[in-house]
Amino acid sequence: MHEMYRKIDGWDDRLERCPFCGYAAEMWEYEPTPEYYQKVVMCANGGDGQDEPECPMYMPPEGFYRATKVDAAEAWNKRIAA
Ligand SMILES: [Zn+2]
Repeated sequence: MHEMYRKIDGWDDRLERCPFCGYAAEMWEYEPTPEYYQKVVMCANGGDGQDEPECPMYMPPEGFYRATKVDAAEAWNKRIAA
């Protein structure tokens, strides 16, 4: 599944930490179909594969997927402020 995602570097200092678990957030590009791109900020906490479950924001809800990096960052940061 993560083949459709590519991490975008350089946004770490503009993203709030995850409101659920406090992990760092990451900017990703999502390409569900070829040549169709969306941006989404995701929590870096994927769990440990055993006892610790992955964070709910490791795969955020649909509303966090945006057309641009700026919009994706704003959606993430505003949700935290709300
Ligand atoms: Zn998290």
